[in-house]
Amino acid sequence: MKGTNTAVRLPVGLTGSDAPDAWPRPRSVPRPERLEAAIETLDGVGPTIARRLKRIGLERVGDLLWQRPRRYEQPVPAKKISELFGDEEATLDVVVRAASSRRRGRLKILTARVADETDEIKATWFNQPWLESKLVPGTRVRLRGRSNRFGFAVSSYDLEGEVETADFAPVYPAGEDVSQKKLRELRLRALELVRDAGEPLPAALLETESLPLRADALAALHRPRALAEAETGRRRLAFDELLVLQIALSRTAAAREQASAEAIPEPGELIARYRTSLPFVLTPDQERALVEIDGDLARSTPMQRLLQGDVGSGKTVVALYALLRAVEAGRQGALMAPTETLAEQHFLTIDELCQPLGVRVSLLTSSIRAREHRAARQLIASGDAHVVVGTHALIQEEVDFHDLAVAVVDEQHRFGVGQRSALVEGRSPHVLHLTATPIPRTLALTVYGDLDVSELASPPAERKPIVTAWVTEDRSSEAYTRLRRHLDDGRQAYVVCPLIEESETKVARAAEAEAERLRTGELQGYRVGCLHGRLKPGDRRAVMASFKAGELDVLVATTVIEVGVDVANATIMIVQEADRFGLAQLHQLRGRVGRGAEQSYCLLVSRPREELTEGAVERLEAMVETTDGFALAERDLEIRGEGQLLGARQSGLSDLRFVWLRKDRDLLERAREVARGLEDEGLLAAAADRLLGEAEHLGES
Ligand code: ADP
Ligand code: MG
Repeated sequence: MKGTNTAVRLPVGLTGSDAPDAWPRPRSVPRPERLEAAIETLDGVGPTIARRLKRIGLERVGDLLWQRPRRYEQPVPAKKISELFGDEEATLDVVVRAASSRRRGRLKILTARVADETDEIKATWFNQPWLESKLVPGTRVRLRGRSNRFGFAVSSYDLEGEVETADFAPVYPAGEDVSQKKLRELRLRALELVRDAGEPLPAALLETESLPLRADALAALHRPRALAEAETGRRRLAFDELLVLQIALSRTAAAREQASAEAIPEPGELIARYRTSLPFVLTPDQERALVEIDGDLARSTPMQRLLQGDVGSGKTVVALYALLRAVEAGRQGALMAPTETLAEQHFLTIDELCQPLGVRVSLLTSSIRAREHRAARQLIASGDAHVVVGTHALIQEEVDFHDLAVAVVDEQHRFGVGQRSALVEGRSPHVLHLTATPIPRTLALTVYGDLDVSELASPPAERKPIVTAWVTEDRSSEAYTRLRRHLDDGRQAYVVCPLIEESETKVARAAEAEAERLRTGELQGYRVGCLHGRLKPGDRRAVMASFKAGELDVLVATTVIEVGVDVANATIMIVQEADRFGLAQLHQLRGRVGRGAEQSYCLLVSRPREELTEGAVERLEAMVETTDGFALAERDLEIRGEGQLLGARQSGLSDLRFVWLRKDRDLLERAREVARGLEDEGLLAAAADRLLGEAEHLGES
């Protein structure tokens, strides 16, 4: 077999040393483009399904495969109907006698009388009305589900030739409007294409590391015959991720060794004035971070520090300190935010603090007018702008600084390693990365191995934990009663609109409509403003400013308020259709309240529990249970898989989808060693380049 181009289906679970002859060479003409194609190119994906898949993050064919199942179905016994006893899981081979459907509220219930040679039972499906037409009397069907005193609740079924009810069928993270059946079917289609996509690692490496071919690993992950098989597949994919990461880290580290920066002299008079201008005393954690930053700035290698602190922990003051250290030395500072709104928000906060100090701040976003844009760039190029606030893209690609000394990069986790190294290789400013995503220590070391870490572990004092409640829609009027009570006490509130991911414009329109509805409905008589991403920057700033000034009682907003918005008098938040949001996002949103000394509340409104996905229920329960960002991050790990934490949205290379660090320490070590050996082996370097290319590409999706 050795040396042929045919992809051999290796019985996964067998290790390389058991079957060394079965490792084929990589294909000579890899065709990864098949996997990069839009998901619509798969059979069975029309525009509607494509839209739904997009909503759960599946946009390209490869996305289907590069996702780990949440879990696998446990094996259950095949039974005869007469053998069912009480509450138990089983599979049944039956014939349909009759089927009918009915509604209960939003729930659509489909019932079928089914029989085998021993008895008859009533089988029930929820929310699958289209199935009724397929369950004509006489149809053979295999059911998997749970018996109860009413009959048999079906969790999956096979009509002829299907394999849904199989033991170890994968269960995927899903939106409520794409069925597991569809998700599984699409994976099988995508798997057929994966053989053509080639093998990035050299055969020799696979052999020494006892790893299966990537195509086999993917097949095992998505169609295992036993859990051990799935695990072998997962580990191979995890190895690829760790290898990429280690290679990227060592390249970044190497670039950093080469790079030099100018040391910044000791803090002086401007910093002293800044400190006295603050209306509060810095926390011990903040003070420690400043000392650590001072240490970095005194050196002639560029600072690469991660400032990690939960929402509301007070990172901005520290970030501004670093920027002002640059200004004081007669040089410039830049703050890069991931979104326009966040950039504007930072600008408002920072400009307010800087004006009395005589420090000039410029805002640079793509939505300011061309003329202003040109003017801002001139100020930056001439050095007349001391601090520049803008989006990552603009600052990195379009701006010539007079003399950039310190860059602050907000929300590191949205930022790939590739971009990070670009920053290191180009001009070499001192860089401070900010993140609100609490990353478990082992993970941080793996992912940010090249960064030093400062942590703001305890929040500024006198904050009360936010009280969080989960209410279903039918009781949402009580939530608004509660909210009005806060308004009547002179407090302010947020109402967060549902997440619609179709287009920014639709989201904006929905938010406007909701604000209008509330003005004449639940919030009649109150001053209601609306904030979304489609407002002109000037208008957006005006809305924010008037909310801050207390001229608005309620801000109806899209997720644009997720980060950065800071109004201490806002003490209550209602999140509509909270089940649609991710856990990290909910935590961020909730962080908008509880910023002052008052008790704050967060009310999560959702559809009835029985209509929610497993994951949604777990997320909402976790939110109610704790306000501790670290605990939530750990929960998120469990619910979504480890890497997803870093890629709360998309995060390029740092998105580890298959790695379970708790289990994969050994793999991490192996990957590190292999990455270190790179220098000597041309073959491996080529593999590394390819993996990096792929990963960067995936990260862009
Ligand atoms: P983060 O960016 O980490 O989410 P911010 O920097 O926006 O948090 O700070 C949250 C709030 O806490 C702001 O209103 C800020 O003014 C306030 N704050 C920051 N540091 C302190 C402190 N040491 N004492 C009291 N309040 C503080
Ligand atoms: Mg902040």
